[in-house]
Amino acid sequence: MKRILIAECKQEVSTFNPNGSDYEDFGVRFGNELIEYHRTVRNEIGGALTVFDARNDIELVPTYSAFFITSGGTLKASAWERISQEFLESIRNAASQGPLDGVYFCMHGAMASDSEWDPEGYLLQESRKILGEEIPIVISLDLHGIPSDRMFAHSDAIVVYHTYPHVDFFQTGERAATLLLRIFSENVRPVTAKVAIPALVRGDELITETGLFGRCIAKSQRIEKSAKGLSAGMFIGNPFTDVPELRTTSFVVTDGEEDQAVASALEIAREFWEYHEQMQVPLVSLDSMVARMMERERTNRAGTVALVDAADATSSGASGDSNAILKSLLRAGYRGRTLLPIVDAPAVQAAFAAGIGATIRVLLGGTLDPIRFEPIEVVAKVRMLSDGTFRSESFGELWRSGLTAVLELGTYTIVAGSRGVNHYDRSYYYANGQNPKAFDAVIVKSPHCQHHMYAEWCDEMILVDAPGSSSANLKSLGHSRCPRPIFPLDADVPFAPRVQIFRRDRTNR
Ligand SMILES: [Zn+2]
Repeated sequence: MKRILIAECKQEVSTFNPNGSDYEDFGVRFGNELIEYHRTVRNEIGGALTVFDARNDIELVPTYSAFFITSGGTLKASAWERISQEFLESIRNAASQGPLDGVYFCMHGAMASDSEWDPEGYLLQESRKILGEEIPIVISLDLHGIPSDRMFAHSDAIVVYHTYPHVDFFQTGERAATLLLRIFSENVRPVTAKVAIPALVRGDELITETGLFGRCIAKSQRIEKSAKGLSAGMFIGNPFTDVPELRTTSFVVTDGEEDQAVASALEIAREFWEYHEQMQVPLVSLDSMVARMMERERTNRAGTVALVDAADATSSGASGDSNAILKSLLRAGYRGRTLLPIVDAPAVQAAFAAGIGATIRVLLGGTLDPIRFEPIEVVAKVRMLSDGTFRSESFGELWRSGLTAVLELGTYTIVAGSRGVNHYDRSYYYANGQNPKAFDAVIVKSPHCQHHMYAEWCDEMILVDAPGSSSANLKSLGHSRCPRPIFPLDADVPFAPRVQIFRRDRTNR
């Protein structure tokens, strides 16, 4: 039997969110709990399990999983210390129980802690110390990850998502597991070439099905599927995770063919650079957004408008407590039926204390990011209360917004939760009895959603330039750690591609 160790450490943060994330922001699972959970959801490990399960010579050694419930601010040092210790302790335990043949680590890549800017790189480096230099380690990452040199150096190969919006978690896990098996069954010898690209990008061109970025991914997929190709792709990084290696990266892993890996990684990088200036978001100011909504109201225009507030995207690490669009619409006297999400634990507590049907006077917004958002006082009716636990529309996993209240103020319906959840689908609204189609305006706190969620049926999508710690207006954020110069923070950024090679010596195997 071949014994394969599986572990997971997955989080994405915005270092611009002043509200640091903590241990409680993770679902933590030990040993078999990891397998049991992932057999029920279509994530990477679920995909990997189908590959391992299809063989009868594999013994799974599940050790540890810290899986972020939703993104947040920089991980507090104490939480990172606990997670890294638990992770490495579980690896030590597994290693002490007999020889291992391979390792699959499922990671995101955009984690950052006050005390460690490259947490995944640290875990890989320390795991190597425990498991030795010989054992094959394959990791999977999100294309918003920031793959550090340490991550490339201590793994045998990296596998990355090929879709944005992400719909290939499961397939990425399958690809990672297949590659791991090939390393020890077929003796393939991964060599990785990577190219760092000085760009931070956003916008519709990143949608892989329709945008220019999709061409780079299609090229990567062709390379990955070629005779000697093992893995290929791009990382655009999470532009809100301001760490020393934040940038865009192309990479190619081949079976021993270094020249091919180099040529292909350069080809992908050059193609990306051709398009990079088009990968920005044409944002609409709050004032212009209000003017457009007032005009729609005046002319009685039918249909729903999605007011995209990507600046407060909880899935990108923002705090979720922005009231900026709400405030602008209220001030202007907009009376259309409006639906919006907000994280506001004190307001929810007041709603629970008052009970369903009560009218409460509460402050709304700015509970987590008081620098950017000033609370506003509203008088609202409590329409619905829930425990905030529901299944995601997209992937079926359990999401938890904590105690949650539906508040109604005039034509505005506010779904207030105690903690952030993802808004790249509609499950938060559905779970709280709201159908976005029944509204004139819906605030969507996500940069992109799958097409059918909103874009397909909304009359208009307005990309609003509101303040927030995941604003596509990158210059508004104040990066201080990423390498400079970098597009679009600096002007006239030169690109002289430099290739780095990573290869693990397996002469003894
Ligand atoms: Zn991502």
